Amino acid sequence: MDALPTQDIVDGEFNSEEDEPSQDAWGRLFPLGSSFVAMDLVNDTYSFGRGETCDVPFSSQAAKNHQCFQAYSKVHFKLVRKNTSTGEHVFLEDTSSNGTFINGEKVGKGKKQVLNNNDEIALALKKNKAYVFMDLNANEDSSLPPELTEKYTLTRVLGRGACGEVRLAFSKGSCDKFACKIISKKKFSVGGKTAVNMASQVMGEVKILKALKHPCIIGIEDVIDTPDMLYIFLELVEGGELFDKVVSIDKYDESTGKMLFFQMATAIKYLHDQGITHRDLKPENILLNSDELETLIKVTDFGLSKFIDAGSIMKTFCGTPTYLAPEILLTAGSGAYTKAIDCWSLGVILFIMLSGYPPFSDERKDMDLPKQILGGHYSFPKQYWKDVSETAIDLIKKMMVVDPKKRIDFADVLNHPWLQDEEMRSKANKLMYPNSGKMAPPNMPVPKRKATENEDEPAQKRKSSADISTPPETP
Ligand code: ADP
Ligand code: MG
Repeated sequence: MDALPTQDIVDGEFNSEEDEPSQDAWGRLFPLGSSFVAMDLVNDTYSFGRGETCDVPFSSQAAKNHQCFQAYSKVHFKLVRKNTSTGEHVFLEDTSSNGTFINGEKVGKGKKQVLNNNDEIALALKKNKAYVFMDLNANEDSSLPPELTEKYTLTRVLGRGACGEVRLAFSKGSCDKFACKIISKKKFSVGGKTAVNMASQVMGEVKILKALKHPCIIGIEDVIDTPDMLYIFLELVEGGELFDKVVSIDKYDESTGKMLFFQMATAIKYLHDQGITHRDLKPENILLNSDELETLIKVTDFGLSKFIDAGSIMKTFCGTPTYLAPEILLTAGSGAYTKAIDCWSLGVILFIMLSGYPPFSDERKDMDLPKQILGGHYSFPKQYWKDVSETAIDLIKKMMVVDPKKRIDFADVLNHPWLQDEEMRSKANKLMYPNSGKMAPPNMPVPKRKATENEDEPAQKRKSSADISTPPETP
């Protein structure tokens, strides 16, 4: 019996029994790519690579099947822990031909760089993330509650927002990845109510949000509630924010933009059907599932924003109220508003996706920003919009109507002619429901346009006057 090897069973898997790093470890590597495994760093040097003689050979079947496998060097990089005059440091030495990257920066063959707590290591390609390094002596997490640290390890910051920080988290044992949103309850205040009162309401809201299930809405996987803090564990998405994507690609071509917008619209429709208004729609709160252009999108940061003082919400709009609906601006956030505010914000997002610049701008000389928004002074100058269809522009105009009562009803956004595109819908549905033949609810019949419901005239008629009254801004 003793001779029976058990090796095969656990080979290539992280030992799920082992929750804590071993006693003598000075660091730990968490896997970011699926072909890598978690490991404790105990020795002073480690070599990593394709070669079988490395301390950490990339020899699992998963590693060999990976598209980058051939691009790894026999010895791709080394980690060396050294005592120097400034104390103990960990160095990463790049020994590869195709490069080793720390936080997206190539180290370079024959060069070394200090590796810090939470640094990300990528191999051969900047995007091919392998590990995140945790310096066990950095001990940054001493302020975290034991309920959290016994289940999770928090690593680097993924993003920051109105409520606070979002960090990459790994569950202990399985190394499943999450995004952990860290919220200080002191920030909750509305109309003078105390933070304590608010906190219980927030928990009630979290319960509702936890029950939401939609492929385009970030799922809440776990919540840890302490007297001062709230830790929300969210499904992790790895393609970054829509905002950064738009900046990096300049703008979306219409068919890709439409496919992404359709997903956003179905997600917001779903939220509205559950009685939830997002209130804080902007490209930073639309996350992308992957680096591909055509990808699944996930709306985040919903529902909780109403617990943050409206005044502070306005301040957090990156200093500018680019996405704020006019009715919020008008009442400085103190009025009662409806889900129509989401319609406006999504219209602004669509404008930006298709043009690469915002409809309202601080740089405009003739009118300040609030005046532009309150008056709905935006336009579609030919030089930036010549490749965009009139139907797309028509939808933007209907979503960005200043009077919320005359704005297109959100339910009708999905019925707009621009979105009656079978090819686009089938692509989106495949991304949203990859594992089933199941489709999203079938198309609703396209309702006849109610001429009185919307101030907007067909795009053709308005073009000239709108363009004259609002000269093209410099994007
Ligand atoms: P806030 O309420 O503080 O604005 P968000 O939910 O918008 O919080 O998160 C702030 C930032 O953190 C996002 O813009 C994004 O960069 C990052 N982030 C949030 N959720 C996730 C997630 N599930 N996966 C990856 N990154 C995320
Ligand atoms: Mg946010």
